[in-house]
Amino acid sequence: MPKKLEHIGIAVKDLEQAEALFSRLLQTKPYKREVVESEGVTTSFFLLGDVKFELLAATNPESPIAKFIEKRGEGIHHLAFESENIEQELSERKAQDIQLIHETPKDGADNKRIAFLHPKSTGGVLWELCEEKKTDKK
Ligand code: ZN
Repeated sequence: MPKKLEHIGIAVKDLEQAEALFSRLLQTKPYKREVVESEGVTTSFFLLGDVKFELLAATNPESPIAKFIEKRGEGIHHLAFESENIEQELSERKAQDIQLIHETPKDGADNKRIAFLHPKSTGGVLWELCEEKKTDKK
């Protein structure tokens, strides 16, 4: 089951510039930067109230973020919802006939396991499920 909106993913061309812009807009500094090799992205996180903003910049031209920006320009890339239990939610979503991009969760930024639902099934919104990694389960 989805618990809450966890973060908003925003695709950007230039991470330095975007960090400066979002620092002005949100009036707070990013609290961490993290590279996710498998996705070809560098991420930068801001926290505002209860919601995080994840800036995503491509590390190479083959990165999904580079392709997204090529097609649609910079802007909102995905919404991420915290999941109680990501495996269970993936099977529930599948049973709801929602198209999954990932059948099983993979490692994401910010100590999360993540999986995406296809925007075709979610009103055009790229939908991320995320669950904090716990030490008591893998
Ligand atoms: Zn995300």
